[in-house]
Amino acid sequence: MASQEIETLTAALARLPGLGPRSARRAVLWLLKRRETALAELLETLGQVRERLVECHICGNVDTQDPCAICADPRRDQRGLCVVEEVADLWALDRARLFTGRYHVLGGRLSALDGVRPEDLLIGPLIARVAAGGIDEVVLAMNATLEGQTTAHYIVERLEGLPVRITQLAHGLPVGGELDYLDEGTLAQALRARRPVSQ
Ligand SMILES: [Zn+2]
Repeated sequence: MASQEIETLTAALARLPGLGPRSARRAVLWLLKRRETALAELLETLGQVRERLVECHICGNVDTQDPCAICADPRRDQRGLCVVEEVADLWALDRARLFTGRYHVLGGRLSALDGVRPEDLLIGPLIARVAAGGIDEVVLAMNATLEGQTTAHYIVERLEGLPVRITQLAHGLPVGGELDYLDEGTLAQALRARRPVSQ
């Protein structure tokens, strides 16, 4: 039987995404054994993040500075804008280091079921950003879900008449994916997005 404090800590950690009670207990034990090193370091970092975390007023990214490091980077291509649902999507895309432009985080997706309306997302600021000029291409990087695609369609409608090229991520076979394991929707998308074989 662990003390009340340790139980509370375990319960708090178990609430983290991807961590269940079992992993939380293992993490707590691991930290307790490294009280002076890893635990001290973690506490300090958590304190700093808590104090300095801000939302970028331009793109909605979460960083320790506003504008965020991406928006403030002069080497970034100012003419490309990639629209994503969540901050996690921005981070995932940016880790791939393929997109050199900047981002716009919507803060979710349109959903009739959950009652999420356009005004609940940062769609207005997106349109204003594009209307302000200086952007050539808007890349819609919504999730390949019904709600993600509904959101993308809505944004395309709202951007109508503005002088920008609108593109969308290709949907299809995942790298390393085997046909046999894919669902019909993914297969159908891959087939629709087929392209000529270069020879
Ligand atoms: Zn930003």
